[in-house]
Formats: sequence, structure tokens, C-alpha cells
Amino acid sequence: MLQRFFAALRAHYGVTVFFLYLGAFGIAFVGTFTLPLIAIFMVLLSIFLLVPAVLLGDAIGALSRKTTRPYLRRGVCPRCREQQGPAWELPVYRCAFCKAAFDPSGDPHEGDESGTPQGAPNLTANEAP
Ligand SMILES: [Zn+2]
Repeated sequence: MLQRFFAALRAHYGVTVFFLYLGAFGIAFVGTFTLPLIAIFMVLLSIFLLVPAVLLGDAIGALSRKTTRPYLRRGVCPRCREQQGPAWELPVYRCAFCKAAFDPSGDPHEGDESGTPQGAPNLTANEAP
């Protein structure tokens, strides 16, 4: 329950902060013409809120990892909650059912699934006359 909440929160945190800043930009833009003091205050606020926003993102990531690791240790996929077989092991925990992959730290595993080198089709396309 808690693990799903933190994983979802972490997955959408960057987009949420981006749209909050976009909305603040809209308010500041209107404020430039109506009340310039609001725009000046918001420019300063945006600079000083950047560090807490990054720290909050780090804290959400740490909570997400902390709540994911017990599932990895028990051999249960944190996403679909299926019990895994003997293939569930280091260095990457990959679910046999939903194909979700996790690092031992609890992070979602970021890697190319295809295994083909990047840009190879482009090279052959460029060599053709
Ligand atoms: Zn799974």
C-alpha cells in the first residue's frame, strides 16, 4: 500500500513540479502588468524554492526505495505483487509476469530492453546512396 503510494508519487513528482512552476509563471506574467511587486516576489521565491523542491524529490525517492526493498527481499514483485521463482536474483530483479525491473537499491531499473546498439539503423541508412 505504502510502497505503491510512494512509487506513484515518485513517478509523477517531476511533472507535478514542472506544472506548478508553469502555473506560477502564468501568475507572474499577469502580475508584471497589474502588480509588479507580485512578479518580483515570485521570481525571488522561485529561486529559493528550487532547493527544497529538489530535496523533497530526493526524500520521496528515498522513501520509495525504502518501501520497495522488503518486497525484493521476499521475492515478490513490487508492481504486480506476484511471487517470483528462482530466477529472481541479482544484479537486476526482473518480474517474470509484468516484466518490471528493479535494482537491488529499490530503484526501477533503467536500461535498454532491446539489446541492440543505439544508432545502428541510422548508420546503415546513411551509408546507402
Ligand atoms: Zn511484476
